Formats: sequence, structure tokens, C-alpha cells
Amino acid sequence: MRQIQMVDTRTQYHKIKAEVDKAVLDVMESSAFINGKPVQDFADGLSSYIGVKHTIPCANGTDALQIAMMALGLQPGDEVITPSFTYIATTEVIALLQLKPVFVEVDAKTFCIEPAAIEKAITPKTKAIVPVHLYGHAAPMEEILAIAKKHNLFVIEDNAQAIGCNYTFSDGITKKTGAIGHIGCTSFYPSKNLGAFGDGGAIFTNDDELAVKLKMIANHGQSKRYYHDVVGCNSRLDTIQAAILDIKLKHLDEYITARKKAADFYDKAFAGHAKITTPYRAVYSDHAFHQYTLILDGVDRDGLNLYLSEQHVPSMIYYPVPGHKQKMFEQFNTASQEMPVTDWLTERVISLPMHTELDEEQLDFIASNVLNYINK
Ligand SMILES: *Cc1c(COP(=O)(O)O)cnc(C)c1O
Repeated sequence: MRQIQMVDTRTQYHKIKAEVDKAVLDVMESSAFINGKPVQDFADGLSSYIGVKHTIPCANGTDALQIAMMALGLQPGDEVITPSFTYIATTEVIALLQLKPVFVEVDAKTFCIEPAAIEKAITPKTKAIVPVHLYGHAAPMEEILAIAKKHNLFVIEDNAQAIGCNYTFSDGITKKTGAIGHIGCTSFYPSKNLGAFGDGGAIFTNDDELAVKLKMIANHGQSKRYYHDVVGCNSRLDTIQAAILDIKLKHLDEYITARKKAADFYDKAFAGHAKITTPYRAVYSDHAFHQYTLILDGVDRDGLNLYLSEQHVPSMIYYPVPGHKQKMFEQFNTASQEMPVTDWLTERVISLPMHTELDEEQLDFIASNVLNYINK
């Protein structure tokens, strides 16, 4: 059996090696390392895949979120509503821009932001909502859009974990996550569903004016060469990364299918177990399975994690400390905030290996060992 990893990017690479190697060598030969043709080609390809008018490539997913918030003209002290149960990048950029992160609860089944909690957290200072499509499952966008419209708020989707996920509205219209809010942000970190061979990110919008601002901010606030209208940053997707991503984009649906297949295997193996809750799929969302995350009930999670590692099966806790309890946010006094669902999930979740290259032998080995420990 091949060694089991949380993510197996090498085996995935080997399947498209000839194509990727040629693309990288072509970039090296062209020497157009910055803003070479593959950057625009990839952006165009991604726009049509996501179903959005504009894709602005940038250096990573954290920058994508930062640039999005800068482009919306948010002012210091403005409040941004976001789940506490997410990766730190979502909330860190809020504080970095001297905005105030307002942490709210998630739904215990979907792991995504809870619309009722958003409504309760709105104040006259609220300017934006940042839903996160955590683990690859969509946040309830239809309800979020309705709240945003009612209170005149911006919606920035953190789509770093859910590229390729489909969201279906109650009228039957289906859109890709990232194309639903005012702005969508994603990451091409190597382990993400569409992973580069290094860092990368992108910003999506259907708004022409916002697209101009986003592009400008990602490029030193420049309107034309050496004329800088606003304070921006330097955030670019390398040509080499774009060339690789352009090839991988053509395989993305295949990759998601492979992830779903692995998830189906796990689902069957754990079905009906009293101590294991397998990932939920809401009617409005399919699942891109960036992570396959279980909720354990009455299981010694650290013990399971240790037992699995002894069998050479990695497992991870995403995330061991929720945002509102991070020391980074001390100034906002959120640590004592009542977050029963978030705290409950934080203590019970565990993510199993999930990637495109898992075979049945590996999946069976992982599932059997999880069950061995829990049933012992
Ligand atoms: C990975 C990730 C990011 C940040 O992406 P980077 O490319 O690592 O900067 C932001 N939000 C979420 C939810 C993520 O998983």
C-alpha cells in the first residue's frame, strides 16, 4: 500500500507530469515570469469555469481577502461579520485593516455561518459579511444575500476551500460558490482543491467598477504606469503558477469527483455509527470535499489521533482554536463570548486524509483503523 498522506500532491502531479513540465519549461524559455500570457489565459479560463465576469489573480488567498476589503472602501472601526469557526486568514485581514471582526456562530451540521446569528450581530457599524464555505460545503448564500440586501451590506465569499462547489437557489438556479456575493476570494495553496506548486490566489466579481479597483489595488494602486491613485499592495500570481493552474483547471471537475468518491467510501464505512457524524450536505449545496471532517461523540479524540498516527494514518484538527479565542484578537475582548456551537465543534471535529489519489485499499485501511479505535 502507498503511504497515506493528508494530501498527496506528488501522485497527482505524476499523472499530468508531461503537460506540467512542458508548461513550466515554456515559461522559463519565454522568461515572462511576471504577467506572462498564461496569467491572463488562466484568469479567463477560471472566469468561465466559475461563471463570473472578472477574475483578478493575486499572490495568495489571504491577499485576495485583504484586497477585497480594501476595494470596498471599508473604514477603520467598521464591523465585518464572520464565523469564528474558520481558518485564521479570514479574520486576520479584518483586524489588519483596522476593521472590527464580529464573530458569530456556525450551523452545527454544515459548519458554515448561521444566518440568524448574522442578523443578531448587525449594528449601525456593520459593513460586510464574510461567509466561509468551510471544508468545501457552501454557506447558506440565499439567506445571507437577503440579509445583506435588507441591511445594505457587502458580501465577500471566502471560497478558499470550496472551489468547484455548486450552490442551488430555491428557484432552481445553480451557481458556483465564489460567484454569488459581491466579491469571491480563493486560494491556490498546494493542498487546496485547485492547488498551485507554491502560493496563489484569485478574486472574483461580476461588478465592472469593483473589478477595476481590485486590479488597481493588487498592483500598487496604479491606474497607468507610474501613476498611483490609491494605496495598494503588490500581489501577483507568478506566470509559472498560472501555467500549472491552467492545466490543473481542466482536471478540476475530475479532482472533485475523486474527492466525492473517497467521501462516499468513508460515508458508507461510518454509516449509522452512534459516535460518528459524517459530513452533512444541505439541499442547496453539493460538497467539494476539501476536507472530510467527522464529528465525534464520546470518543477520546487525542487518543484516536495518536492511535491513527501509530498506524501511519494522519489526521488533523481543523481548527483547534476558534477565532474568537485567538490571542491575536485580544483587543476585541471576544474570548469570553458565548459560542456554544463553535466550542462544541472545536472539541469534536477530526479530519481524515482527503485528496484525489486515495485508493480503496488506503480508504479501507483508514476507515478500519478509525473504527478499530472507536469500537475497542
Ligand atoms: C487557505 C485559506 C485561506 C488563505 O489562503 P492562502 O492562500 O493560504 O493565503 C483563507 N481562508 C480559508 C478558509 C482557507 O482555507
